Amino acid sequence: MSSPEHVVVVGGGLAGAKTVEALRDQGFDGAVTLIAAESELPYERPPLSKGFLAGSEPFDGAVVHPKKWYTEHSIHLRLGEGATAVDPTAHQVTVSDGSRIHYDKLVLATGSVPRTAPFQGADADGVHYLRTHADSEAIKQEFGKGRHLVIIGGGWIGLEVAAAARGASTEVAVIEPSELPLASVIGPEIAKVYAEVHRAHGVDLRTSTSADEILAEDGHVGAVRLEGGETIEADAVVVGIGAVPVVDLAESADLDVDNGVLVDAGLRTSDPDIWAVGDIANQDHPLLGRRIRVEHWATALNQPAVAVTNLLGGDEKYSELPYFFSDQYDLGMEFYGDISSASRLVIRGDLESREFVAFWLDDGSHITAVMNVNVWDVIDAVKPLILAKEVVDPAKVADPDVDYSEL
Ligand SMILES: Cc1cc2nc3c(=O)[nH]c(=O)nc-3n(C[C@H](O)[C@H](O)[C@H](O)COP(=O)(O)OP(=O)(O)OC[C@H]3O[C@@H](n4cnc5c(N)ncnc54)[C@H](O)[C@@H]3O)c2cc1C
Repeated sequence: MSSPEHVVVVGGGLAGAKTVEALRDQGFDGAVTLIAAESELPYERPPLSKGFLAGSEPFDGAVVHPKKWYTEHSIHLRLGEGATAVDPTAHQVTVSDGSRIHYDKLVLATGSVPRTAPFQGADADGVHYLRTHADSEAIKQEFGKGRHLVIIGGGWIGLEVAAAARGASTEVAVIEPSELPLASVIGPEIAKVYAEVHRAHGVDLRTSTSADEILAEDGHVGAVRLEGGETIEADAVVVGIGAVPVVDLAESADLDVDNGVLVDAGLRTSDPDIWAVGDIANQDHPLLGRRIRVEHWATALNQPAVAVTNLLGGDEKYSELPYFFSDQYDLGMEFYGDISSASRLVIRGDLESREFVAFWLDDGSHITAVMNVNVWDVIDAVKPLILAKEVVDPAKVADPDVDYSEL
């Protein structure tokens, strides 16, 4: 395969920034253009609901590379410009100013946007979503003693915002339709730990109920009405009900799209000259044997190097399992693996003391996933057992005196 002369990357999030980095790291010396709709340098989003939102970390720490890095690596950075269409036959990307850019290879890293609230009043002032630096800054301005914040959705982002808001003495209510927040992601036993920690920190956690309407006065949010008719006072609302992949560009290129952009194990789309990475990539996963689309930081961090290897003529598969982390109050956790085939949960440590390692096992006693809460250096030790599909003894798994290497 002849080497491409111009690689265009669309999307200035972590996956886009890591793609242009991988191109230079892997020795590509042709032209590279990064088209980024946001006007800021590419940055990482996890601090937006954690340290930055809580006021304990400056935003600068989230920026992937300083401006001079792009100059030094001859990356043509087009910030504040959205790509509006892709013509795969002409190998052209149209940009919001009307110009067209020719590409030899194209990488799409257009990420996700928050799912919007499906009920009345969601367009009132004081209703926020959290995706960008500006969103986080605006939500932070709503915090403070005597202020009432209602968070719709008890997922990771909603709960992290709740923790940050409580840290600033804000009155917080979280509305979650399930019996327990996070239960669908980590199961009821551990979800209970999270519910309890939030209640212990004074969050008014309303479960098994939904928000029906945001009630506004003079265009500004004043309360949230629940499905049973009860209203909860709100000076501000954060809607955290999930995200949806941004696939309009992929659709304009006639790529195969179904819950994200369909890619093979090597992150190739249905067009031989277009790759997709990060939140939008719905990958045919080589270890799981099924498609998976992962909206996590580590995927955006690690997929680009594999896509770039393949784009430059190599043949690699992206075989990492999902990894993510969350920080809420003094509860830090990491998760690695996949729980879809698990039938049993084994806990090492003590759920009540909030220092434990949770292992998900399948019917054949293979560990499929692990989650460490306020215990560290676990994932690197357990990952080889997950990847090798070792059969383990659940009693040993639960025993804190047994080293991970002896499981
Ligand atoms: C508040 C918050 C906290 C999070 N915390 C965690 C965490 O603790 N742990 C974890 O594992 N994950 C976390 N995540 C998820 C993680 O941040 C995402 O998985 C990651 O950002 C995905 O990176 P990405 O580059 O694929 O997409 P994005 O970060 O969404 O970036 C995509 C970029 O592409 C741009 N774009 C879209 N369309 C176009 C276009 N047509 N032209 C040009 N540019 C375009 C967008 O404006 C955006 O800047 C969090 C996410 C959020 C929002």
